[in-house]
Amino acid sequence: MASDKFVARHIGPREQEISEMLKKIGVSSVDELVDQTVPENIRLERPLQLEDGLTERQYYRKILGLAKKNKVFNTYIGMGYYDTITPAVILRNVLENPVWYTSYTPYQAEISQGRLEALLNYQTMVCELTAMELANASLLDEATAAAEAMIMMSNARTREKAKAGANVLLVDQQIWPQTLDVLKTRAVPLEIELKVLDVADFQFTDEVIGAMVQYPNANGEVVSYAGLVEKAHAADAKVAVAADLLSLAILIPPGEWGADMVFGSSQRFGVPMGYGGPHAAFFAARDAYKRIMPGRIIGVSKDQHGNRALRMALQTREQHIKRERATSNICTAQALLATMAGFYAVYHGPEGICQIADRIHCIAALLEKEITALGYLQLNRNYFDTIRFALPKYVKREDIEWLSLELEMNFRYFENGEVGLSIDETTNLDDINWIIEVFAKAANKPFPRIRQYPDGCTIDANLMRNSAFMQQEVFNKYRSETEMVRYIKKLEHRDISLTHSMIPLGSCTMKLNAATEMLPLSWIEFGGMHPFVPKNQARGYHEMMEELRRDLAEITGFADVSLQPNSGAAGEYAGLMVIREYHLSRGDHQRNVVLIPASAHGTNPASAVMAGMEVVVVPCDERGNVDLDALRQNAEMYKETLSAFMVTYPSTHGVFESSIIEMCDIIHQNGGQVYMDGANMNAQVGLTNPKRIGADVCHLNLHKTFAIPHGGGGPGVGPIAVAEHLVAFLPSHPVMNNGHIGITAVSAAPWGSASVLPITYGYIKMLGADGLKRATEIAILNANYIAESLKSTYGILYTGENGRVAHEMILECRHLKAESGITEADIAKRLMDYGFHAPTLSFPVHGTLMVEPTESESKHELDRFIEAMDSIYQEIQAIMAGKLDKADNPLKNAPHTAEAVTSDAWAHPYSRQQAAFPLNWLKENKYWPPVGRIDDAFGDRNLVCTCASTESYQ
Ligand SMILES: *Cc1c(COP(=O)(O)O)cnc(C)c1O
Repeated sequence: MASDKFVARHIGPREQEISEMLKKIGVSSVDELVDQTVPENIRLERPLQLEDGLTERQYYRKILGLAKKNKVFNTYIGMGYYDTITPAVILRNVLENPVWYTSYTPYQAEISQGRLEALLNYQTMVCELTAMELANASLLDEATAAAEAMIMMSNARTREKAKAGANVLLVDQQIWPQTLDVLKTRAVPLEIELKVLDVADFQFTDEVIGAMVQYPNANGEVVSYAGLVEKAHAADAKVAVAADLLSLAILIPPGEWGADMVFGSSQRFGVPMGYGGPHAAFFAARDAYKRIMPGRIIGVSKDQHGNRALRMALQTREQHIKRERATSNICTAQALLATMAGFYAVYHGPEGICQIADRIHCIAALLEKEITALGYLQLNRNYFDTIRFALPKYVKREDIEWLSLELEMNFRYFENGEVGLSIDETTNLDDINWIIEVFAKAANKPFPRIRQYPDGCTIDANLMRNSAFMQQEVFNKYRSETEMVRYIKKLEHRDISLTHSMIPLGSCTMKLNAATEMLPLSWIEFGGMHPFVPKNQARGYHEMMEELRRDLAEITGFADVSLQPNSGAAGEYAGLMVIREYHLSRGDHQRNVVLIPASAHGTNPASAVMAGMEVVVVPCDERGNVDLDALRQNAEMYKETLSAFMVTYPSTHGVFESSIIEMCDIIHQNGGQVYMDGANMNAQVGLTNPKRIGADVCHLNLHKTFAIPHGGGGPGVGPIAVAEHLVAFLPSHPVMNNGHIGITAVSAAPWGSASVLPITYGYIKMLGADGLKRATEIAILNANYIAESLKSTYGILYTGENGRVAHEMILECRHLKAESGITEADIAKRLMDYGFHAPTLSFPVHGTLMVEPTESESKHELDRFIEAMDSIYQEIQAIMAGKLDKADNPLKNAPHTAEAVTSDAWAHPYSRQQAAFPLNWLKENKYWPPVGRIDDAFGDRNLVCTCASTESYQ
């Protein structure tokens, strides 16, 4: 009988398969396997106190009920968030399409050409609108992008300034309050001094590294900063501009003044407000800064056949290479949202974007005229979308407030009593009339009825953009929906996602992102909410978030949770800053050393450096475990200055280290706090928890363990959970009371990326306590089944005391390289010919592959993967035996494109059949890699990060 329990859909293997797998492993039950895997002394003493799992239908009703408790008003608050129209063709074919949302960050470029092109379009759009030379493929939000710009300016100081210790950043006082708050958080540990001033008062003295201005500014005023840029450059200082991307369609873009960096949010390019996120922040800079630019950059290169091919450029800048020398900790960003914004630009094109921007401005201008006629005073001399009114004496602000709420509208209320309106793409004739009605009724005056969209621009001619933009073919070709859907499909067909095959990426937990979990994302009740509306309009959100925080606290064993950080790395940073504040509160100002095992993910040391801490690397022993003696020695040596220990558990080596409690004790005995990197939480839920192992704070990657999809490199959500003594230090927010009163904000939005939280909420509600535990157990079962199947060929690098792995394992490939010349990268590329995404390459151990199957994969799929790995192993054996050529073989030439395999000229010593169909089942489901092996070095030497205008898109 079919079960309607969600757990049976979430988990891959059927009961019969589980028995077969246990037999292969050589244990009699899942419990026995778990007992051999998870050390006794860290097991939970009681089951999770969560409700039983709901069926999918029950959950659907529940989340629908919560959605209905959100009241979606027309919101004119602005402040970085604007209502927008997601073209349905993008909503349905991108946001709701698992090929786009379940794919991984495009590290394996040959099977990621579709999303790489979508992101290249995004970068091109950003460069064109800002008039800058280089853009990245997104950052987490506008406020953290500002922090990245600040750090970049500090790193770009001239030698003289650096020597003199210049450290002052001039900040426009008219910058969003949330941006300023995050700047404050990020500046303090790096000893950058912020001087927040009226731009007119900026003085470029010797200690100034740069200036940051907002355009249009927080009042909505448009001012040219051309003169400021000149003054700054004359004093060897940089200028970073926070810009409204849409406004740049009609305003002179900062690149034309010579700005050094331009950043902001691309939310209003078709991405719903979502009560604060997720949205893609854009970041553009001049070419001179390409080596210190944060984030992922998509670049153009060529493949082995000389054809154009895309890949991620300049990766040596990134935290996974630079570690404690990194200048940014960013890893997961906002790829899916950047993809959407890029498609929005493709669909509308330059004339469409101009029309949208023009209409917004004209509506604002009309409202200025009509409302001024009622006796109000409009204060912005030049504006794009935002007008600001001083009220006449006979009007009470409270009247405007209740009249607007009556008509389901939210206006912006300045502290000095002024009232603001930011117009957006959705504002229509009815809205215009309702707005006028409110101002007229509050003034007790009659009001006209507006029957026609206005035209007429009020911006000074010398502020208006004259230059063309987005002239590339891709932005001028797809206007009908038919053309657009085919373009999206064309790109989609180039990529491997979870809809094709398992993605066995160790540490990344590519599990099911269930359709029922995803459905609410498209609902206006979640998408249409501005993050700064009165809380009583967002009751559904708050009920959901309260419950989610409670559930995550229960799962981690901790006292409270902050949902604010937008990625795992952002969570690490937030957690370390919480620890820092805790030490400060106790007068321990000197505690700034962080011990980090050599096996840690690159974000750990990078985040520690961003938090102003000194990183001390702790070695691992020959069994892959943290060297306990070395840990003790270091903890004792630094006992006066020890701040924290960052540890991933189970370890990045895929092992439950049995000494974890002892490790945490050592740290505590020496005055430090334990930060647990929660990326491997999928091996813990329901069996153990961070509190139980002795940690004080952890982050959770909701986009790994808790079912939020990877989206090709984001969104991510990285909440932090903390023990009781750290609750008082959790991040607050300058605009909305988010229930926490600790450090200043770490993200722009009060609750981070709220609109994707229903995914995790649904995951927990539908699995329930038993299902969550079962998911963990089967994740461990699946990993041990693969380990058992591949240990006699590749070999498993590290195991626990009983020879078991946790939820992932490292496959040894170094001996193969030594004997055959075949590298782990060759194996990764060859897997593409078998229709698989490679496992994690060379992390955490160089020359190896790390495999994590997750609980969502069935035995059938695991067997296919094992067969492919075995088949590749046989190919390597054939090379060693001289049966295949050492240089010209299916591995070195992988992946094989359809074009190469069907070419009239086939000069290889192995057959076409072996190249493309090495296993029988490929005949019924063949994925053809769209390009051959990509030349990374060529692309880095000849950096091109936009689609050239001459390019032909067939
Ligand atoms: C994924 C991962 C991170 C970083 O998380 P992001 O969400 O990408 O910032 C940190 N540590 C480990 C072990 C990870 O696997």
